Parts: sequence; structure tokens; C-alpha cells
Amino acid sequence: MDFQELKALDDQYVMHTYGRFPVDVDHGENATLYDALGRSYIDFSSGIGVNSIGCAHPRWTEAIMEQAMKLGHISNLFYTEPCARLAKVLCQRAGMSNVFFGNSGAEGNEGLIKLARKYSFDKYGKGRGTVLTLKQSFHGRTLNTLAATGQEVFHNYFFPFPDGFRYAAPTMDGVSEVAGHDVCAVLMELVQGESGVYPLDQGFVHDLAVLCAERDWLLLIDEVQTGIGRTGTLFCYQQYGILPDAVSFAKGIAGGLPMGGFLASDKCRDVLGPGTHGSTFGGNPVCAAAALAVLDVLDEDTISAATDKGRYIRNAIASMALPCLGATRGLGLMIGVEVKGDKTNKELAAKLIENGLLVLTAGPALRFLPPLTITQAEMDKGLEILEKTLKEV
Ligand SMILES: *Cc1c(COP(=O)(O)O)cnc(C)c1O
Repeated sequence: MDFQELKALDDQYVMHTYGRFPVDVDHGENATLYDALGRSYIDFSSGIGVNSIGCAHPRWTEAIMEQAMKLGHISNLFYTEPCARLAKVLCQRAGMSNVFFGNSGAEGNEGLIKLARKYSFDKYGKGRGTVLTLKQSFHGRTLNTLAATGQEVFHNYFFPFPDGFRYAAPTMDGVSEVAGHDVCAVLMELVQGESGVYPLDQGFVHDLAVLCAERDWLLLIDEVQTGIGRTGTLFCYQQYGILPDAVSFAKGIAGGLPMGGFLASDKCRDVLGPGTHGSTFGGNPVCAAAALAVLDVLDEDTISAATDKGRYIRNAIASMALPCLGATRGLGLMIGVEVKGDKTNKELAAKLIENGLLVLTAGPALRFLPPLTITQAEMDKGLEILEKTLKEV
């Protein structure tokens, strides 16, 4: 099938909810991908932060094939070894008590919201169901997680939205303005991803954690994008010096297979008992085997290298002094680049992709989320494409 045939087929039968770029990615190795005609691309996108150990890592493909040949799925009414082993590794490395497995980031955040409301209901009864989130946040595409998202552009069409959310500016004054006796939790990203890659201020996060403890609000961290080594520690909260009550994860956890969920601290480990929550595919043995391979590859050294690689990419971009790009920001390999001049971030992204560098946008910025295993040669090749493509823009 040539590209035009593929595009026509897709246009006809797949719902048009995405603006796709005209590239048919066919296969790849680590951060180097190829289209059906064999043209190569350097991947600074990881499928939106998902391919944390790159494309087709041999340990990942072997783990999946081995598990698929034994058992592809059973159900959560039975025990499977990959699920239990993964739970232990994740809890131990995160400093958490237990875990719930689902399939996506939005589902992980839905779980956090349910956890907080049940925690509060068990202790205080009804009337304390409000979750505070931050302006410019993003928490997912289900109705509840859209409602939790603190950006008005997401609050359209699908009325009525569920209530129970209020949005604070990321300052202590901003939080006081929307606080109240009906609040049970705060839910936030530590680096706001979709809205433009904005790391939260350490002092603010620390003060808010103290306030949460005082008011018995659960401190819920959405690590769907920041988690699994992306920012230079397994979870981003580990470098903010806080211990959340519960944390969601998804994107990078299984290296490309669908998996999401949330971790709970000791205080919250027994809040959700039998019958209160579930997921048909959650903890699927093939996805769990893939996630075990990911966490095996992402040892402490590989994860901390993300900090150096991120610094290298940001320094290189700064030294190019390209007229269409401004300052860079972010943590580890979660990088936002300001766009200036008359071309939009979407136009710049399209040009870069056409020239062989896969990138993302976020809010008004360009966003780079390369695989954590990206090599020096791949970074240099990507940066060379970036400089060549944007020099004249
Ligand atoms: C991507 C993302 C989500 C939604 O994840 P899905 O797997 O698409 O449901 C939620 N929160 C954050 C911070 C994200 O980056």
C-alpha cells in the first residue's frame, strides 16, 4: 500500500479526531524510525512520551513475545506473576505502598479522584468531594478528567460536565482563593506538559504539601507524562522533596503497550476495597511483562542520564541562536522550546517532521520527549536537522 492509498483508507474509516502529519512510520530502532519508503527520522517525540526505551528494544520485544506465547490475558479474578512482580518493583522504587493497574492516563487520574473522594467519605461523610486542580493543567479526555483540566478550551461541547473541581493559580494565594470546607484533595502535574512544559516552583509545591497535610486534603500527583524517568528521577516528586498520598502514571510505563494506573501511600492503601474499583484489562500479563522490561532497562544510571541528555539538547539549541526559537524550559528529557516570529509551533513542527525530525507541540511551544535511551549520535543528528531546517525560518 503506498502512502496515498493508506491516507485515503485512514481518512475514510478512522474518526477525524487527530490532525495527522503526512508520515507513515513503519519500523525503527531506538530513536531512529523509518517510513514505508525507508526514509529515516530521528524521534524527539517517543509517541508522546510513551516509547521510554525507544523503538523495538530487544529486551522489551523478547519479554512481550515470551509472555504472549504463554498467556495473553486472563482477568483480575486470577493471579498472574508479571502483575505481582511489577507491582512490587514499582512500589519499592516509588516509595509507595500498593498499586492499581488500568490502561491509560485518564483512567489513572479517574482512580486518584475516586480514591480521594472515598478516603474523605469514609472519614468525614458526604459534602467533601471537591478536588482542586491548577490552571493550565491537563488531566485527560474522559468527562471527569476534562472537568479536572484547568483550561477553558477543554470545557466545550460535552455539557453537562461533572462538577467537583475548582482551578487555582499556582501560588498559595491562588490556592486560598478556591479553598473551602468541601475540598478533599489537590491534583496536579509537577511539570505541566500539554499546556507548554512548565515546571512548578519547588517552594510552592512544598508549601502546598504542608497545607494538604494540615487540612487532610490528599496530595495527588499526575505523573502520566513526568513519570517513569522522564524528568531524571523515576517519578518527578522524588526530586521535589515531597511524598504524595497517591500518584498516577501511564505513558512511559510499558514502553509502548497500553498501561496506566495509580500508586497509593500507606495512608491510602486500604481505601479502595473489593468491589469499589476495577478494570477489565488492568494489569494484563503482556503489558506487565513489557513494563518489567522497561523498569529493568531504566536503572538508576539510565534515568539520571536523562538530566544530562536534556541539558545537552537545551544547551545545543541555545547556542544555535535560531531566530524562530526562544528560551527552553523543562526537566530532564521533558523539554519545551518557546516559539517566536511569525510561524506557529505547528508550522515549525510540520517543517521539522518533513525534514526527518519527529517533534511535538504543547500550548504555544515546541515540545521534545525523546526516548530516555536516545544515543549521543541520535541526539546530534536530530539537532543537526533542527538547525538546518529552522536556520532560514
Ligand atoms: C497524556 C496525559 C494524560 C492522559 O493520558 P491518556 O493515556 O491519554 O488518557 C493525563 N495527564 C497528563 C499529565 C498527560 O500528559
